Amino acid sequence: MPTPIITLKHVSRTFRVKRHLIKAVDDVSLSIGEGEIVCLVGESGCGKTTTGKMIAGLLAPSAGTIEFCDQAINQMARAAFRKYRLGVQMVHQDPYASLNPTQTIYDIIAAPLRHHKFTRAGADTRARARELLTLVDMTPPDDFLDKFPHQLSGGQRQRVSIARALTVNPSFIVADEAVSMVDVSIRIGLLNLLTRFRDQLGMSFLFITHDLALAKFFAWEGRIGVMYLGRLVELAPARDLIARPQHPYTQVLLSALPEADPQVTRNKPRIELRSMDVPSLMRLPTGCAFHPRCSKFIGNVCERVVPELTAAHGAHVACHLIKPGP
Ligand code: SF4
Repeated sequence: MPTPIITLKHVSRTFRVKRHLIKAVDDVSLSIGEGEIVCLVGESGCGKTTTGKMIAGLLAPSAGTIEFCDQAINQMARAAFRKYRLGVQMVHQDPYASLNPTQTIYDIIAAPLRHHKFTRAGADTRARARELLTLVDMTPPDDFLDKFPHQLSGGQRQRVSIARALTVNPSFIVADEAVSMVDVSIRIGLLNLLTRFRDQLGMSFLFITHDLALAKFFAWEGRIGVMYLGRLVELAPARDLIARPQHPYTQVLLSALPEADPQVTRNKPRIELRSMDVPSLMRLPTGCAFHPRCSKFIGNVCERVVPELTAAHGAHVACHLIKPGP
């Protein structure tokens, strides 16, 4: 296990919606090491984006602590927190909305360089902008610097978003559905680019996606965490989770994953859920939140007792069926 760079300890986040208190993230504990890739997967509303925003310092936890190199970020002095915010950058899902349409690519990249005083003179800024575009494979950079976002393809726009995140030399990237809005053919190029940053610059990644196939590809050397209705239900090395999923919800997700060979996909055994309805966050089920849908439901204990995330056979799993073990 690499040295932890970010550690979440029993982190929860609630939101008030009208008269309801919604627990978007509930008691999540997780460490991400230096140069590690961790993917968070789950259906929309499972709390993965809220977790990413808390790690990026954009939202404060309602309970629990987030530590950066063993220091709680909510106890950092203003200057240290500012440094933390620069060190952890977020790449958003929508490259159409995240780039200002009235600015050129040069303006978009130059703004954080100047604001955080990474460059001073105009020539320095232009040279660094060229370097950053080259780093994200937009070459020759001079072909792009004076263009506007609408003149670029979706994949090129996402590369500009990544270049902008790199302006402040981050050591940790939270990529929230960062390749979901680009063509399938372009996704692999972007994921390979991020993997290269991990290999060459030692960056760590929290990659948030609803697509387990993408998580499998990107986190093959790392770990995958599966979230369900705000809780982490399984966390394991990606290879183990794909080969031997332990939590019934992970098994359902994997049973629906298409394989390269359509025949294999057709012959995959389907897991029947007890219900197709996803419970509302406003009325979370008691006990294990997955119990109204779980095909392996074992009665009273599932309905009444919230299963804790426990070490089990090389993974961490939250299910009463799984016996703890090394
Ligand atoms: Fe299913 Fe019970 Fe395990 Fe929940 S605790 S996943 S309901 S078997």
